[in-house]
Amino acid sequence: MKIAMKTPLVEIDGDEMTRVLWAAVKETLLEPFVELKTECYDLSVTERDKTGDRVTGEAAEAILRYGVGVKCATITTTEARLKEYGLARLYPSPNATIRAALDGTVFRSPILLPSVRPAVSTWTEPVVIARHAYGDVYRAAEMAVDGPGKAELVWTGADGSERRISVADMPGGGVLQAMHNLDTSIESFARSCFRYALDARLPLMFAAKDTISHVYDGRFREIFDAVSAEYADRFAAAGITYFYTLIDDAVARVVKGRGGILWACKNYDGDVMSDMVASACGSLAMMRSVLVSPSGAYEFEAAHGTVQRHYYRYLNGEKPSTNPAALIFAWTGALSKRAELDRVAELAAFARNLEQAVIGTIESGSMTADLQAISSLKPDKALDSWAFLEKIAERMRGERI
Ligand code: NAP
Ligand code: MG
Repeated sequence: MKIAMKTPLVEIDGDEMTRVLWAAVKETLLEPFVELKTECYDLSVTERDKTGDRVTGEAAEAILRYGVGVKCATITTTEARLKEYGLARLYPSPNATIRAALDGTVFRSPILLPSVRPAVSTWTEPVVIARHAYGDVYRAAEMAVDGPGKAELVWTGADGSERRISVADMPGGGVLQAMHNLDTSIESFARSCFRYALDARLPLMFAAKDTISHVYDGRFREIFDAVSAEYADRFAAAGITYFYTLIDDAVARVVKGRGGILWACKNYDGDVMSDMVASACGSLAMMRSVLVSPSGAYEFEAAHGTVQRHYYRYLNGEKPSTNPAALIFAWTGALSKRAELDRVAELAAFARNLEQAVIGTIESGSMTADLQAISSLKPDKALDSWAFLEKIAERMRGERI
């Protein structure tokens, strides 16, 4: 008897190697065990082109409606892709469109393996990074100037009022930058972080530099403090804490700590620190990613892209050794969230077992090439993606426990 689902989740298909693996994961590891109920959206680049990108907006709306989605990696269009696929025009990144529609925050967390030691030897639990995805230097206005002059920051209110402060008297040429953020965006970010911390039962740390940036970073800190007051009872009941610290101290704590923390980062810090955590943990293919809206909608995905280079080898008739682990964990994340919301214990257990089967398979020495290169088990050969999936399926069927 297959496990039944009560409510559908939103399934978003994508491009290239991850699209090929998406179908293989479903066929080998999901459909034999679960009566999948999904509402499907095809976000392949050709389908986005055909619909003038309408399908991306529809997929985002569906995630808000159902509360849970799982997404395959998708091509972000570039001039090269425009030619390759004969597209009518360039489209915004689907992830950016969905993130904006959900007003969401992305949380990234590495899947740790006993046989792959992180570069930071004290980490025994994942360091989860939340990156604020709006504003700061990513939406800054910049200017290069020649010769002497003075720089000022001017605010013109909608009512016509004006505020002006001096930035610097510049004796010679130089560069200027002005950045901004919005209270509403910072508040949504904070809310998504508190929600995620509660779900994952992780202590939450927010870090900035408010000793230097009293107003800008100070505002972030105030908003986090205000939202933390709303969550105080629930955090206490869950036995977790929220704290603010300076970004310098945060870096030191994370590098000396054992992991097991949610680190809320401003946009730039999150960009840099999520790459640091990913490389310190070994493989991009072992990084999970989930977009959480402040209203409580979740979209699970792998952190990596469509693995284009492997796809071209696949098109040439090869069987690449692409690691499907993060795609599988995207599905287990979505299924267990669905199970939690619908209270379906068997589905939650299935998701847990599948995650354990993936780890167990790797730890028994069956793995893809990216892991073979870094695992202390040093297996003689790497498996292609399909052979690896089959090994996991054997475990799920109880043939090899
Ligand atoms: P990528 O797909 O993440 O792959 C970069 C390299 O990382 C691969 O060539 C491969 O290295 C390694 N890698 C990534 N995932 C792997 C896996 N599962 N198993 C084994 N190795 C893996 O990044 P990209 O090549 O820069 O981008 C390709 C396309 O993906 C682009 O069109 C981009 O727009 C899109 N993208 C989408 C998302 C998303 O939808 N979330 C995110 C990022 C990029 P080796 O070749 O050395 O084996
Ligand atoms: Mg980065």
